[in-house]
Amino acid sequence: MTEKKTILIVDDEPDIVNLTEKFLKLGDFNTITCNNGRDAMEIVKESHNEIGLILLDIMMPGTSGYSVLKEIKTNEKYKHIIVVLFTVKSFNEDIQKGKKLGADAYLTKPFSGKELLKFVKDLLTA
Ligand SMILES: [Mg+2]
Repeated sequence: MTEKKTILIVDDEPDIVNLTEKFLKLGDFNTITCNNGRDAMEIVKESHNEIGLILLDIMMPGTSGYSVLKEIKTNEKYKHIIVVLFTVKSFNEDIQKGKKLGADAYLTKPFSGKELLKFVKDLLTA
């Protein structure tokens, strides 16, 4: 399959979204972005067939990343989507909670563009 995979980036910090999107575009990925959990679920409902992976912030106003993760992983239509939680270093509780809810991987903020691309490519080709 040479089809481009779309990655959904969800974070309430615009700088993180912009930077992440820039890196992924350099890696030739399609991207969709939003800054809150509610919009993320709307996008998943509409575009779940084309989304290969979601980079999901945990701490966001309103619907948290955990709620989005839970909604995705408990729905037969969406649970194939790889979900990567953005975590802040040393927040071990985040990782434990995310694991229980079905997160596929964790990416510690801040990260470099090189790290991000390798991480995403490894997950999508695994
Ligand atoms: Mg946040």
